[in-house]
Amino acid sequence: METENREMVRQMAQDFAEKHILPHVMEWDESQYFPVETFQAMGQLGMMGVLVPEELGGSGLGYQEYVDVIVEVAQVCGAVGLSVAAHNSLCTGHILAFGNEEQKRRWLPKLATAEWIGAWGLTEANTGSDAMRMMTTAVLDGDHYVVNGSKNWITHGKSGQIAVVMVRTGEIGSSKGISALVIEKGTPGFTHGKKENKLGMRASETTELIFDNCRVPKENLLGVQGEGFKQAMKVLDGGRISIAALSLGIAKGAFRAAVKYSKERHQFGQPIANFQGISFKLADMATEIEAAELLIRKAAYLKNNHKEVTKVSAMAKYYASEVAVRCATEAVQIFGGYGYTKDFPVEKFYRDSKLCTIGEGTSEIQKLVIAREVLK
Ligand SMILES: Cc1cc2nc3c(=O)[nH]c(=O)nc-3n(C[C@H](O)[C@H](O)[C@H](O)COP(=O)(O)OP(=O)(O)OC[C@H]3O[C@@H](n4cnc5c(N)ncnc54)[C@H](O)[C@@H]3O)c2cc1C
Repeated sequence: METENREMVRQMAQDFAEKHILPHVMEWDESQYFPVETFQAMGQLGMMGVLVPEELGGSGLGYQEYVDVIVEVAQVCGAVGLSVAAHNSLCTGHILAFGNEEQKRRWLPKLATAEWIGAWGLTEANTGSDAMRMMTTAVLDGDHYVVNGSKNWITHGKSGQIAVVMVRTGEIGSSKGISALVIEKGTPGFTHGKKENKLGMRASETTELIFDNCRVPKENLLGVQGEGFKQAMKVLDGGRISIAALSLGIAKGAFRAAVKYSKERHQFGQPIANFQGISFKLADMATEIEAAELLIRKAAYLKNNHKEVTKVSAMAKYYASEVAVRCATEAVQIFGGYGYTKDFPVEKFYRDSKLCTIGEGTSEIQKLVIAREVLK
């Protein structure tokens, strides 16, 4: 039954991606268009609240189905895949994991249906990997926190109607000096800054968030004051599974295109797939894709069963993202000169793949996390 259900969800995501995303991929990429209406249509089908319980407007599914949805979407468009992952895992996932009942009832139904798109702000201009030293402050003043500062590189920073924002409420450099606040668009003093002009993932919107004496009701605090950093790390444990799935989708998309092309393209009177130099590339890609999927499935299993997942989700994210870059690079090589043009999909996989080794913690940071776990 579980397998049947999973297959239905996977098929639905594949059909949607082929019908409603594929025809627009290059147009959205070139114009950096963030297709809000497409996310809303995905929300109607349950893809924007995959892990949210049904009684709160979501699909009530587990991590395996969530991985399937992202893989299917990312095989067609990495940028849309990134936004689906960020919306589900970060903003929605943070409120789902750490919101109280009232907060969940207030925000999750809107997020799960994509009536509202969600953003999540941890990174700042001077603090990426070293997020604990963030400088955006929140000072309690009566019934409100007064927030000042800015966040950088925030997915859905302009179009999102709601953001979970990590703010400093205590000492710099202390993990207990950070708290998580939900801030709605329209709150005076909350605006967005410039939109980044990116190498890849161009249909996924990335902007700055700016807070200027922004007064946030204190009931928008998630959990307890001072727990925000710990919460964010837990949110990233789950989020990294989704970035690993995004990587897997990109790797699969590039591989599929490379297999097809290598059978069609003739040189020296035969398909290039006949050359061992090409077929061995495909063998390496296929092997690495399988290995990445196994790691991701293990992480999803652990997460579904509420087991410790920090090490395996970091491994899945680290390995799958590097596989995505290698597969996309080899796919361009297999396409030769044609791979270097926008007439074929592999150049976009190549550009999109690189984000996967950077977002939600770089490969170097994943290695730090894994090393810390194995040396415990
Ligand atoms: C498209 C996109 C979307 C994003 N979306 C979001 C979002 O929605 N919300 C959000 O909060 N953030 C978001 N980010 C930010 C992202 O998480 C950061 O870019 C990432 O964590 C890296 O931080 P940084 O860019 O400041 O790099 P830095 O931390 O400055 O790192 C620069 C280099 O130094 C290396 N490095 C740093 N510290 C160490 C160390 N201790 N040991 C070894 N190497 C090290 C890094 O691995 C990297 O290679 C997004 C980024 C992008 C590009």
